[in-house]
Amino acid sequence: MRRRKLLWHLFPSYLLITAIAVTAVSWYSFDSVRRFYLEETAAALTARARLLEERARPLTERSDADALDSLAKKLGAAVSTRITVISPDGIVLADSEEDPAAMDNHGDRPEIVQALTGEVGESSRYSYTLQTNMMYVAIPISSETGIAGVMRTAVPLTAVEEQLRAVRTRIALAAVLLLVLSAVVSLAVSRRIAGPLHQMQLGAERFAGGDFAHDVPVPHLTEFASLAESMNGMAADLDARIRTVVQQKAEQEAVLASMSEGVVAIDREAEVITMNHAAAAMLRVDVDSVRGRSAQELIRNVRFHEIAASVLENGGLIEGEITLAGQHETVIEASGAPMRRGGGEIVGAVIVLNDVTKLRRLERVRRDFVANVSHELRTPVTSIKGFVETLRDEAGGDEGNSARFLDIIIKHVDRLNAIIEDLLYLSRIEEDAGRKELVLESISLFDVLSSAVAECQSLAEERDVDIRLTTDRELETRLNRELFEHAVVNLLDNAIKYSLPGSEVEVSADREGGETIISVRDHGLGIAEEHQSRIFERFYQVDKSRSREVGGTGLGLSIARHIVQAHGGAIELESTLNRGSTFSIRLPKNGHQPTIS
Ligand code: ADP
Repeated sequence: MRRRKLLWHLFPSYLLITAIAVTAVSWYSFDSVRRFYLEETAAALTARARLLEERARPLTERSDADALDSLAKKLGAAVSTRITVISPDGIVLADSEEDPAAMDNHGDRPEIVQALTGEVGESSRYSYTLQTNMMYVAIPISSETGIAGVMRTAVPLTAVEEQLRAVRTRIALAAVLLLVLSAVVSLAVSRRIAGPLHQMQLGAERFAGGDFAHDVPVPHLTEFASLAESMNGMAADLDARIRTVVQQKAEQEAVLASMSEGVVAIDREAEVITMNHAAAAMLRVDVDSVRGRSAQELIRNVRFHEIAASVLENGGLIEGEITLAGQHETVIEASGAPMRRGGGEIVGAVIVLNDVTKLRRLERVRRDFVANVSHELRTPVTSIKGFVETLRDEAGGDEGNSARFLDIIIKHVDRLNAIIEDLLYLSRIEEDAGRKELVLESISLFDVLSSAVAECQSLAEERDVDIRLTTDRELETRLNRELFEHAVVNLLDNAIKYSLPGSEVEVSADREGGETIISVRDHGLGIAEEHQSRIFERFYQVDKSRSREVGGTGLGLSIARHIVQAHGGAIELESTLNRGSTFSIRLPKNGHQPTIS
């Protein structure tokens, strides 16, 4: 249905009602006036007829037609009225306007017929004689013997009609004026009703659009006023509720966003309802484009969908581990729980994700470490056992052999001791760094490096290696002296061990940008490219037999790296096979941020 404005309903209705009323009243008034005029004319004609009847009666009784005619002509001219006298048998005896002899019998004229019955006859019609509309009134001329004739008076209706026309014009003008006036008033009244309603409609549209800042203006009309007040009250209530909902949503989102666990909520069709940043980062999806999208399409992991499907189907708590392949493999612990409506019906699932990659790696490192330690310890222990058994079996045997065996046993025991000491050292650094108990002090690097060099001096001399220390004596940095010296000794010890006799090892310290760089450079065996990334791992040795020969445990570099990391620094290696190696320690400018891994 075509919609129309209220104004265009009210206004035409008012106008139509007014038009009908004005037309009816105009018509009625005009009719009354017309009737009044005609009645007045008829009354005047009757009065004249009665007066004339008095004068005409004796002449009629005498049937003196000539006298009657001249009387009619004289008086007719005097009172501007047509006067006709007719005999009871319809013959015109006298007429003020025409020759009676030329006139036809008037016995059939309605007013005459009526007058002959003794009443006042009246008729308005077109006169063929005078060729105009006339009003006739006829009264009987009574004599003692009965009706002697009929006295008829008549006037043309043109004058009456002219007067009536003027009256009609005035009534019509008044009606039109009234209509225009009522149209203006109707429009004003319609506007007064439709205006506030329109305002309320606009207000309701604003409310629907979420703008509650502007109230609907309250009109004067009581009904509209209470409607507007109800609308405003409703809007205020709605506004408060929406604010509460928005605030609660923001709080929920803030809680979700600040969680380190990933949270994914899906509905029954496995479409994502919500996903927090942590989950998006773990699952490697763009958090801004997840809402309403299918989990299948977003998350490319079969295990995740198995967990989600199982929760939606069985409604229980499901836990499982998800592995996401890629550049860095990520291991996620997922636990899914159903979302239920009031009635207990499952409407979706919430899956909480925990990134356990680091944990799993640490577990693996620990497992490998235990295996490595056991392996490293077993070799010397097996050897010691073998030689001890041999000694027991050959007790009292060859003196020289026994001494050699005992030397080997001592060597293995020393190795065991070295490994155990290194392990204890490693665990101590880890513990200190883990508890953030590493005590740092501003120390001259020259002091630390000279005492490390002094510690390695005897080994250097034994292997005919020269150590050269170049550093600015003023250079100071924040260090844990004992640990740091140990790290440098380990690097220096390696440099001497893997150098060729007669070569030189250079130790230097310098500032570069804000960093302090300590380097230990040798010109010895060097390390092949493929080993370079692994030599800092625990127990990793490039050439096991050679390292053991020089008393290595495979833990020296690992300890050095741990110490440097506990100082917030990093250790780097540059090496060319058969040309030599340079180990550089980079320490940051201010303090330290230990990163033990
Ligand atoms: P080790 O106690 O066996 O020396 P490290 O952890 O100190 O153990 O070193 C690991 C391995 O790295 C050594 O076994 C050795 O093969 C290699 N390496 C370390 N420093 C050097 C160096 N300066 N020149 C050549 N090889 C080195």
